Amino acid sequence: MAHPKILEVIEHDVCTACGACVSTCPAGAITMNKHAEVRDPDNLELYVKGAAPDVCEGCLTCGRLCPVIDGYVEDEFENVKEFFGAKSKIEGQDGGVTSILAKTLLETGTVDCIVGIAKDDKWGTELILMTEPEDVDRTTGTKYTYDSVLSALKEPFEKYDKIGVIGVPCQAHGARLIVENASDKIVVILGLLCMESFYHDVMTEKIVPEIMGLNLDDVVKMDFGKGKFWNYTKDGEAHSVKIPEVAHHARNPCHHCCDYTSVSADISLGSVGAPDGWNSVFIRTDVGKEIFELVKDKVEIMEDPKPGIDLVKKLAKMKHDNNSEHYMEVCEKFTFDECGIH
Ligand SMILES: Cc1cc2nc3c(=O)[nH]c(=O)nc-3n(C[C@H](O)[C@H](O)[C@H](O)COP(=O)(O)OP(=O)(O)OC[C@H]3O[C@@H](n4cnc5c(N)ncnc54)[C@H](O)[C@@H]3O)c2cc1C
Ligand code: SF4
Ligand code: SF4
Ligand code: SF4
Repeated sequence: MAHPKILEVIEHDVCTACGACVSTCPAGAITMNKHAEVRDPDNLELYVKGAAPDVCEGCLTCGRLCPVIDGYVEDEFENVKEFFGAKSKIEGQDGGVTSILAKTLLETGTVDCIVGIAKDDKWGTELILMTEPEDVDRTTGTKYTYDSVLSALKEPFEKYDKIGVIGVPCQAHGARLIVENASDKIVVILGLLCMESFYHDVMTEKIVPEIMGLNLDDVVKMDFGKGKFWNYTKDGEAHSVKIPEVAHHARNPCHHCCDYTSVSADISLGSVGAPDGWNSVFIRTDVGKEIFELVKDKVEIMEDPKPGIDLVKKLAKMKHDNNSEHYMEVCEKFTFDECGIH
């Protein structure tokens, strides 16, 4: 039986938990638990991590879909065709452009469904399949805790032909690898910028109560910006700590990740590089260009936003400088050599 390479990714704790392998394994040998760790449902004790050897058919698909095995690019900005600021009327995390794009893609039938993330009142994440424009309203706002977006593709792959994905860079990357290697049903990938993410229990039991000194029930919005981690509470107050106080609590795979701007997306969206309340928008593909045309009359555009793309480049370089050494060290331990920074 061939040995799935993803087992090594999982064993070295660098699996991003994107879920690409989960949704595409033909044998159903891989599952993800709620803590975004890969698990075999049938034998938790014996195979605490990874694909279940007794179920795996050895097709090796999973290794071709894994962003960690595929590796990272040196220059994240090489494929950027256009960069600008944009803002919609939707009250989203930043300019709500992700949400207006999602609504419009569903309204126009460009996609049949989109996978994304909602949250409950305890900041617990819920993977949701949006099929109606109204479903998008449940997903607005950033959750800095992780959930395995691509694992929610299993059902859509059976039911739909035109699927949209919204996710952080590791998920945009996994989605692109699925398109290239397993299924062309994913027709649009919207990627978010992402410096790091956190396990739910770390965020809710450590960071918010201990580091921020807040009651989780009072927190209505979380944000990273201007060198600080911000929590906004029901009483309208803004609370912050410096980012280094929380950043080292990020999930281990995030300390090995060298994609800040969702290089594999059709359109990348963030806040950095644009003014408060606006999105920074990066068009990367012809598909991205076409679908942005669909919302052009629904958004305000800022052609030369400040502080601009140079700040985004600086932060991308910082992420690479911090993480590439960790990543390359792990690559050297793998028994295969596809991975690396290309
Ligand atoms: C973990 C994380 C870290 C981020 N770090 C940065 C950063 O360092 N710099 C920066 O400029 N931007 C960062 N972003 C992106 C930023 O927070 C906004 O998501 C982005 O600007 C889009 O804003 P919007 O107003 O268009 O989103 P909205 O219209 O509010 O839509 C939000 C969308 O985000 C999706 N989403 C929410 N939480 C998650 C999650 N945990 N995983 C996957 N998808 C999710 C929802 O499905 C929804 O579609 C980060 C996002 C996440 C999830
Ligand atoms: S090798 Fe094939 S059957 Fe085995 S876990 Fe990977 S995708 Fe599933
Ligand atoms: S494809 Fe994603 S979930 Fe699967 S092993 Fe690789 S990083 Fe982990
Ligand atoms: S830093 Fe962001 S993109 Fe990278 S592994 Fe963590 S959640 Fe995924």
